[in-house]
Amino acid sequence: MNTGAAYALTTDLGEKADYDVLHYDARLTANLAAKAIDGRVTVTAKKLSGGERPLVLSAKYKTAIKVSSDNVKLSYQILEDDLVINFHSPLTRGQSFSVDIEYHAAPKRGMRFYPDHMFTVYHTGNWLVSHGNIADKASFDLTLVHDQKLKTIANGRLVSQKSAPTGKMHSHWQQQTPIPLYTFGFALGDFQLHSTAYNNQAINFFYRPRPLSGLNRQKIKDIFADVPDMMRFFEEKSAIALPNKQYSYVLVPGTIAQEAAGFSMVGEKFAHTVLEQPGENWFIAHELAHEWWGNSITCAGFSHFWLNEGLVQFMVAAYQQQLFGEPAYHREIKLALNRVKKAAEKGRNSPLAFFTEIAEQDINHSIVYNKGALVFYLLREKLGEKHFWQALKTYSLTFAGKSVVTDDLKRVFEQVSGTDLSAFFQRWVYGEEIPELSF
Ligand SMILES: [Zn+2]
Repeated sequence: MNTGAAYALTTDLGEKADYDVLHYDARLTANLAAKAIDGRVTVTAKKLSGGERPLVLSAKYKTAIKVSSDNVKLSYQILEDDLVINFHSPLTRGQSFSVDIEYHAAPKRGMRFYPDHMFTVYHTGNWLVSHGNIADKASFDLTLVHDQKLKTIANGRLVSQKSAPTGKMHSHWQQQTPIPLYTFGFALGDFQLHSTAYNNQAINFFYRPRPLSGLNRQKIKDIFADVPDMMRFFEEKSAIALPNKQYSYVLVPGTIAQEAAGFSMVGEKFAHTVLEQPGENWFIAHELAHEWWGNSITCAGFSHFWLNEGLVQFMVAAYQQQLFGEPAYHREIKLALNRVKKAAEKGRNSPLAFFTEIAEQDINHSIVYNKGALVFYLLREKLGEKHFWQALKTYSLTFAGKSVVTDDLKRVFEQVSGTDLSAFFQRWVYGEEIPELSF
């Protein structure tokens, strides 16, 4: 057992990419009635390879794109959903540069608009002109231009708010630690705010006024009463303090549960359910757990998506076990097993991870989430409490802020436990067998 051991990343996705996108600096004005945004973004990147391949960014759902640069000569074209930028003189390996892009976007996915609020959902490339490599993390400055009465939530920290001569408010958010692109996000709206604290770190709850949401401060307190306890649990199991020093939940209509870095969007319907059934608090724990596994330790490609979602599903079950006892843990694991069986009955079984890259649309969600959780359960049974949790700590500490592939996890668990897990991974991770449970 060596918690500080240095493991080399096996992923070479970063090496294969031609560009390393370092930073986005965006200013976005949302038009709720038009369900659209006007944007300007400066993308700062570094050339990684010596080739002359263009920089390709997402142009999906965007119009009126104008690209310029202060430090490189370029030309550009829109090819279907891609903005393809060519540089007039070849960039040298290691050269940093920035491009400025103005655009209008009316995304059909990735953003949801309502009369009194709006928020982003996962598909960052649909609202921000940006790259698509999940393993390439970037920092983010976001200035939201909005009506004075609206509140904003975005990644990182609110560093300034200024009222412009136009009467609009400019709220500048800053995310300094690089994060995966799909965790970029923001929400703005006519929200009420309730705040509490855990270890001097703010926990914020943004919710719509009672006539719209049926929620009030007391209900918010009751629904989210366990959040500090969840934070303590995930901090203890990862040996890593809450990565962003604060966390926010944004309550929005319906049944959504979507993490972003530093906050998550959760559905009001789920929230109301917790008031009746406290055991239904899975979404609160799930999105919070992503701060460690997913947002900080991120799968390097979609072949390894279970390292985000399977692990988080398992951690929710482990948290339920601590909060409600053994039967709650077994209930969650059984639920996961039943979902895997159902998927298999419908002819939708598949391995959990792959040796070759798969596309995002080919992710088998019921397997990744549920068989993923089951595999961590099996691993815990096989290695025992001491080795399993020590390995999870080592894995978390080793790869915090990095991107991981399945083999990274395997090697850490093998090293910490002194157990060869090749057969285990071949059978349960790369195979399609469904386990039988004895409880
Ligand atoms: Zn998730």
